[in-house]
Amino acid sequence: MSVIDTSGPCDVAIIGGGAAGVLAAIGVLRGAQQPLRVLILEPSLPLARGVAYATPYPEHLLNVPAGKMGGFPDKVEDFLEYLLDVQAFPGVDRDTLATQFVPRRCFADYLRHRLQQAVEVSPAQLEIRAERVQALDRDAVGFQLTLASGQQLLARRVVLASGNALRPLPARGAGSLPDGKRVEAWDFDAVHGIAGNADVAIVGSGLSMADTVVSLVATGHRGRIHVLSRHALLPLPHAKGPAADYDPEPLLRMDLRQRLHALRQHAVQAAERGIPWQNVMERIRPMGQALWQTLSFDDQRRFLRHVVRYWDVHRHRIAASVHAQLMQLQQQGQLQLHRGRLETAFADGACVQLTAFDKRRHPFQLDVQHVINATGVEMRAQAMRNALLQQLLGSGMARPGPHGMGIDSAADGSLIDADGVVEPRVQVLGSLRIGSLWESLAIPELRVQAAQAATALLG
Ligand SMILES: Cc1cc2nc3c(=O)[nH]c(=O)nc-3n(C[C@H](O)[C@H](O)[C@H](O)COP(=O)(O)OP(=O)(O)OC[C@H]3O[C@@H](n4cnc5c(N)ncnc54)[C@H](O)[C@@H]3O)c2cc1C
Repeated sequence: MSVIDTSGPCDVAIIGGGAAGVLAAIGVLRGAQQPLRVLILEPSLPLARGVAYATPYPEHLLNVPAGKMGGFPDKVEDFLEYLLDVQAFPGVDRDTLATQFVPRRCFADYLRHRLQQAVEVSPAQLEIRAERVQALDRDAVGFQLTLASGQQLLARRVVLASGNALRPLPARGAGSLPDGKRVEAWDFDAVHGIAGNADVAIVGSGLSMADTVVSLVATGHRGRIHVLSRHALLPLPHAKGPAADYDPEPLLRMDLRQRLHALRQHAVQAAERGIPWQNVMERIRPMGQALWQTLSFDDQRRFLRHVVRYWDVHRHRIAASVHAQLMQLQQQGQLQLHRGRLETAFADGACVQLTAFDKRRHPFQLDVQHVINATGVEMRAQAMRNALLQQLLGSGMARPGPHGMGIDSAADGSLIDADGVVEPRVQVLGSLRIGSLWESLAIPELRVQAAQAATALLG
């Protein structure tokens, strides 16, 4: 039996026990050749839920088919294997299950199951502490972590996997709305608790909006559902059909304008052969990071300013069943889509009064019982409401990533500080790397990053 000294510094401290942190822990536990002390710090237990997989509600589905959600780059069908092993969907055969969008909560169960299996055979020891990390500083042995409880810990190496930060509601007055009038879309229980006859306004029209609408439908909501966003584009559905087989490599040598033109051409040609445009997008899915990194800085900026909304609805698609629900609600008039920029949100008796401006700067007003913030993931480092990130930026241990998005990291995931010095003992995972990689949110990217981080940390 291995004897590990738990009084001294831990070997690897993982900050954040969402999907990315847990995948990194599994990688370290599996790769360890000798006794090591691995610590996960996560205030919201049980592990592996983070934002995405914390929902207990069956209507919240994964937006990637089960056959592609495996947590390991060398075993992309591992999630599917797990579902079959535990007989999560008795009577559904393997091929059918591989293409299905199963409830998101299954994924957290899967990750915890694999973590437990890794613990059982590893010479390393895993500790889990329900704590938030407030500060990270360099120290003689490596790093000193200050916890929200005030306690301090030492670690030789660190994984930063603090994940997704919610964007605040972009409206004057929103901060002073009474509790319950302003609801966060990621607060799944609060959305479920909304009275069935209430009129609501959902701000944002992406995946979190879709989550909110399916929850309202599941609770039998009868009130009006206003959806307000600057572009009023709804997420598009996944589609079945033959795979696209064009060569995507030349796209990497084109500028932004040429790429968009070429992609449209591929979609037109594919449609002529009965191939849905969705599969044209699927063809470039594995190249998301390369496509971003081969754009010039100016083209990246143009993309963020002019293209990103259109990109998002084509790239971040939803299950066809969810899309059909949205369309039906819109046709019935229960869901009303508004294009506009939200300006103010003030309480007015039992109502919330929202003021927005349309494209021509004409004001319009929505009176509802609840406003739901579905504006999604905060990408700007300086705006992320996470004390640890603000401390890292303030102390110079980290600097904002390209275009101010996320924090800067090297190609191997090492943190880059304010002077540009690479710190390989701190590995950064997930949405924090968005400025450098763009595609850095979903499991297909996280599993690669987590495996690389584990290798770097063990090395
Ligand atoms: C609503 C939603 C649905 C999604 N659906 C899918 C999907 O179907 N398929 C897919 O591939 N991707 C999906 N994603 C993308 C998703 O971001 C990733 O799959 C994954 O959940 C991200 O995991 P993470 O660990 O990086 O971040 P998170 O899930 O955000 O977890 C980060 C964790 O870090 C903790 N933390 C933060 N700060 C600190 C701190 N200072 N100290 C200690 N702990 C801290 C938080 O409590 C949290 O638990 C979805 C995202 C969202 C928001």
